[in-house]
Amino acid sequence: MSSPGRPKGLSAQMSRSAQREGKSTSNLLEVRDLRVAYGKVEAVHGASLIVDEARIVTVIGPNGAGKTTLLGAIMGLLPSRGEVTLFGAPATRMTVEQRVAQGLCLVPERRELFSAMTVADNLELGAFARARRGDRGIARTRDDVYARFPRLHERRAQLAGTLSGGERQMLALGRALMSSPKVLMLDEPSLGLAPLVVREIFNIVSALKATGVSILLVEQNARAALQVSDYGYVLETGELALEGPSVELASNPKVAATYLGKSGGQREVSGATHRASAPP
Ligand code: ATP
Repeated sequence: MSSPGRPKGLSAQMSRSAQREGKSTSNLLEVRDLRVAYGKVEAVHGASLIVDEARIVTVIGPNGAGKTTLLGAIMGLLPSRGEVTLFGAPATRMTVEQRVAQGLCLVPERRELFSAMTVADNLELGAFARARRGDRGIARTRDDVYARFPRLHERRAQLAGTLSGGERQMLALGRALMSSPKVLMLDEPSLGLAPLVVREIFNIVSALKATGVSILLVEQNARAALQVSDYGYVLETGELALEGPSVELASNPKVAATYLGKSGGQREVSGATHRASAPP
């Protein structure tokens, strides 16, 4: 686990080696020394992170830490300095559309669904770029999405604006899956949802990893995020202050006290009980 005082390059190297310790393979997304500013005010100060194949990586942190800004810059929605490498190729000069075509997808914090359109039509919009290039796999993806979210299938003719909060989040996830992403970035999927629904959403996120999609999950709900993820970063006022395997972060006394409201120990994950490892 790195510390705030460590040089940035070293932090990135540690991340790479730490993530390779497991059975992870190649880096799908690599961010190096990313800086994002709103006018003269810098909101992200040189963040470096890696998302490996078939991994869930989380960025936790308090309100206003820069999590949404970080995802926006990785997606190409915000101008930034530093390096973004996507599937081994430099993405810094790629447009948002090019990043989407490469397999990067963002589910924004506000879901951004089309309320006056049906569930089915919102889903189709997720495959818009694929349809334009004549991709023949869309029907199969649609079937997969409906199989994964039976509630969306039941409500496919319903207007998106009439869905419950949890259903809206499912639709946002389903729409993202329609683009057939390789790396899915989720901005606060638990926001505004009841605890039981949060659990359902995180179980879905966890299951997505089994399909080979890598996930970069940004969350204020650190407890849930660390439970489903393999590796985590703590973002504080625009700086990545800590990083490490999620199980280690969860038992780190500072993380436990600040973000989990306890001192580590046993944690329940989707009905199973995992014991957090000893603090490093
Ligand atoms: P939250 O969890 O509340 O969404 P966050 O960690 O996602 O917070 P950001 O929304 O990325 O944080 O905000 C990071 C910083 O950048 C904050 O200080 C915020 O006020 C500032 N900021 C965000 N958007 C803008 C903007 N459009 N213009 C100016 N400053 C902004």
